[in-house]
Amino acid sequence: MSYHINTQCLQAGYDPKNGEPRVVPIFQSTTFKYDNAATLGKLFDLEADGFFYTRLANPTLSTVAAKIAELEGGVGAMLTASGQAANMMSITNICHAGDHVVCAAAIYGGTFNLFNKSLRELGIEFTFLAPDASEEEINAAFKNNTKAAFIESVSNPSLDVADIELYAKLAHAHGVPLIVDNTFPTPINLRPFEWGADIVTHSTTKYMDGHAVALGGVIVDSGSFDWTNGKYPMLTEPDESYHGVVYTEKFGKAAYITKCVTHLMRDYGSQQSPQNAFLLNLGLETLFLRMERHCQNALTVAKFLEADDRIEWVNFPGLESNKYYERAKKYMPNGSCGVISFGVKGGREKAMQFMDNLDLIKLVIHVADARTCALHPASTTHRQMNDAQLEECGVKPNLIRMSVGLEYVDDIIADIRQALDKI
Ligand SMILES: *Cc1c(COP(=O)(O)O)cnc(C)c1O
Repeated sequence: MSYHINTQCLQAGYDPKNGEPRVVPIFQSTTFKYDNAATLGKLFDLEADGFFYTRLANPTLSTVAAKIAELEGGVGAMLTASGQAANMMSITNICHAGDHVVCAAAIYGGTFNLFNKSLRELGIEFTFLAPDASEEEINAAFKNNTKAAFIESVSNPSLDVADIELYAKLAHAHGVPLIVDNTFPTPINLRPFEWGADIVTHSTTKYMDGHAVALGGVIVDSGSFDWTNGKYPMLTEPDESYHGVVYTEKFGKAAYITKCVTHLMRDYGSQQSPQNAFLLNLGLETLFLRMERHCQNALTVAKFLEADDRIEWVNFPGLESNKYYERAKKYMPNGSCGVISFGVKGGREKAMQFMDNLDLIKLVIHVADARTCALHPASTTHRQMNDAQLEECGVKPNLIRMSVGLEYVDDIIADIRQALDKI
C-alpha cells in the first residue's frame, strides 16, 4: 500500500512490532552487543545486516533516514551531522582530486565556501554558472573529467528556482549524475527525482526539523543512476578497504548510498546524533502541515509588502511579478517555501531602523523555523562589505531576508506595519 506524503511524514520508516514503543526510540548507545565473533565478522564483511557501532549505523538514525528516503522517493538515505557534511559527502563519494563538478552559482554561501575553498584545496575543481545561464552555456561547462552537477532547487538566500529538468538532461548527456540540494522546498513541495535528479541532499536543520533545535543533514539516493559507464571506478571496482567489495555488484541500485555509509561515514565520522535524529523525526511528523502554512503566510506577507509604497522591491517566487513565477508554478504548484526577501526604501540606514523596530519578528541568523525571523545581511553576515561590494555579490544594502513562520499572519503583518510606520 502506498500512502500520501502527509501520511508518510507521520508513519514512514517505522512499524513497531507487538509490545514495542509506539514512538521511534532514541538508541543512545555507541555500540551493540553480539553473542559470538562469527556474527560480528559477518557484519564487518557486509554479509549480514545489523548495528555494531553508531558512527556507521544506529537504529534511530536508520529509521529516520528510511522515512526521508520514502518522502523523496529514493532507495536509501544517510543522515549526517549537518547540511554541510551532507553536501561534502555527496561530492566526495564520487569525486577525487583531478575531478570536476558543474555547479550553479546560486547556492548557499556555506556550500560555496565548501566547494570553492575546501574541496578546491583537496584538488576538486568547480565551474560556477550564473542562474540565468543558457542551455548552451551549461552544456559547455562539462569537461572530460566532470563527475557531477550540483544545484539548489530553490537557492538560499537568493530564491532562484533551478531548471532541474534541464540540468538533469545535460548531466545525463555527459554521463554524470545531478545532485540537488532540496532544503528550501522540502519533498512536500518538490521531489527532484521526479524531474530526473539522481541524488538529493538537505540541511535538515531547516524546515525538516522546523523548530530550530537540531543541526542535521541527509543524502538521498534515487537508485536510478547507472554508475557502470566507466567514470566511477570507486563504485564498480573492488574496494580494498572493505574486503574487495564491488558496490554496484553487491548493492545494485543502492550502490552510491551504501558506499556513503560504509566508506565515507566510516572514515569521516560526521554522524548525526541519535538525540538529534529523534528531534528531526518529531519535526518530520508535521512537515506537511507546516509547509502548507509557511507558504500561505509567506505569500500573504509578500503581497502585503508589494502593495506598500515604503518597500522598493519584493523577491518571492510565488508573486506573479517574480522572474521565476512560471518555473515555480511548474516545479512547485503548491508553493515553494516561507522565505522572502525585500528592500526597504532609503537604503542601509532605513533597513537597519526597520530591523530595530521589529518586535514579534526576531533578529536571528537562521531561516525556516516555526517562528518568523529576519536578517539584514548588510549589517550582519556581510557587514565587512561596502555598498559597492554588496551590489557586486547580489546583496543589496537595503535587503531584508525574512523567514515567515507559522504565527497568525495578521500578527506578522501588524509587526511589519508598525516597524515601517516608525521609520
Ligand atoms: C543551511 C543550508 C545548508 C547548510 O546546512 P547546515 O545544516 O547549516 O550545515 C546547506 N544548504 C542549504 C540550502 C542551506 O540552507
